Amino acid sequence: MKKKDNEKVIIVGGGPIGLICGFWLAKKGIPVSIYEKGIKIPEDLRASTWHPATLDMLEEYKINDEIIKKGSITPSWQYRFQDTGERAIFELNVLEGETNHPFRVQCEQFHIVKYLSNKINTLDNANLFLNSEVYNFKQDEKGVEVKINQNGKKITENCSYLVGCDGGRSLIRNKLKLGFDGKTYPVLTMVAITDFPFEDFYEGLSGVNYIWTKKSNFSLLKVPNRWRSGITPLKGQSPEEALSDKALEDHFQKIYKRPGEKYKILARGMYQTHQRVTETFNSGRVLLAGDAAHLNSPNGGMGMNCGVHDAINLVDKIVRVWHGEDSSLFDLYTRQRKTIATKYVHSLSDANHKRMRQTDPVARREIMDDFKKITSSRKLMKNYLMKSSMIESVRYAESIK
Ligand SMILES: Cc1cc2nc3c(=O)[nH]c(=O)nc-3n(C[C@H](O)[C@H](O)[C@H](O)COP(=O)(O)OP(=O)(O)OC[C@H]3O[C@@H](n4cnc5c(N)ncnc54)[C@H](O)[C@@H]3O)c2cc1C
Repeated sequence: MKKKDNEKVIIVGGGPIGLICGFWLAKKGIPVSIYEKGIKIPEDLRASTWHPATLDMLEEYKINDEIIKKGSITPSWQYRFQDTGERAIFELNVLEGETNHPFRVQCEQFHIVKYLSNKINTLDNANLFLNSEVYNFKQDEKGVEVKINQNGKKITENCSYLVGCDGGRSLIRNKLKLGFDGKTYPVLTMVAITDFPFEDFYEGLSGVNYIWTKKSNFSLLKVPNRWRSGITPLKGQSPEEALSDKALEDHFQKIYKRPGEKYKILARGMYQTHQRVTETFNSGRVLLAGDAAHLNSPNGGMGMNCGVHDAINLVDKIVRVWHGEDSSLFDLYTRQRKTIATKYVHSLSDANHKRMRQTDPVARREIMDDFKKITSSRKLMKNYLMKSSMIESVRYAESIK
């Protein structure tokens, strides 16, 4: 392998984590090629929550401004009983002084993926290639040789480091023969989007609402000009039935009754959810970040945020190793980020997942009472939000040596 060919980083996957990683590396002077198998940037319905810690991190190249521009600022979120309207409201302004963004922003991930893909194409030292599926690689002590199926043609590229940001089914992780231990949640998660302005009709909503109905639950999240609802399909319902026009109409009519009027469904999607982490995030010159390294329940909106934190952490390590520091920094990357994925993100999102699906009235009462106690004290509310807003985990990662 010629030294010159070798002097770049290849990123597999043009999702949010691959693009943030690539953009950051390029801005820091490292040549980057990003390969995305899709023929265009997808309108992925998954993530919409951006937490304070992530917005702070993205300030360096002002991506936070774009998220705020394309999203809705959400100063509070709530837990609520649908039938009585009783609720506990978490106010993020208690985080003032700890973050430059004492709020959540609800901005659908595809806006930022589109924005970054355009920005990347304006940089001299970065390329994003669509319709380019990485199908194999091999590494030695000098670099990594990567095999790509680009527009139906097989090509080979060389790089110093390969970063797998290729999502939950990661080919890079699989080729490294790394395990992906954890569990698959038995229930599917569904997202449906409507343009109905619930805020004008449904009393006292926050921008983010977790709502218990008599037998089930749903979430209602405000993004500009539309509301996203997270739905747990009913027992015995097939994915096709659960996503049907009729089932979604029933769902939204149960949230707010509009006799004789229909809800307009703008988009819908269904997802299997998992809680998994891989053995290591680094193996020689190959690194993993985002869903390729860890998966968690979407409850609490932490998966992509955690992946962004991986990417920013990893960029720092790659830049330092590039300029001569020891490659054992990549072991530190695994120690820091794997710890956060399990100790914080898995435990918090799993607790959110179970709490949301709790149907026992006594247990629900206890949770609501506990939340009302927390939200009645700014100190307790701040303690809670430092964790759920992912500020504490970023600080904890920095303390791991
Ligand atoms: C319903 C739902 C709601 C969610 N909401 C939130 C939320 O509010 N906040 C949050 O933080 N997280 C949320 N998440 C999680 C979030 O969507 C993911 O964590 C995030 O998309 C991960 O980004 P990624 O770039 O790692 O992977 P992906 O978004 O999966 O991107 C991987 C990319 O790699 C490409 N690729 C795969 N294999 C190859 C290959 N061999 N060669 C080239 N390209 C390849 C794929 O085409 C894809 O574009 C949610 C998830 C779900 C299911």
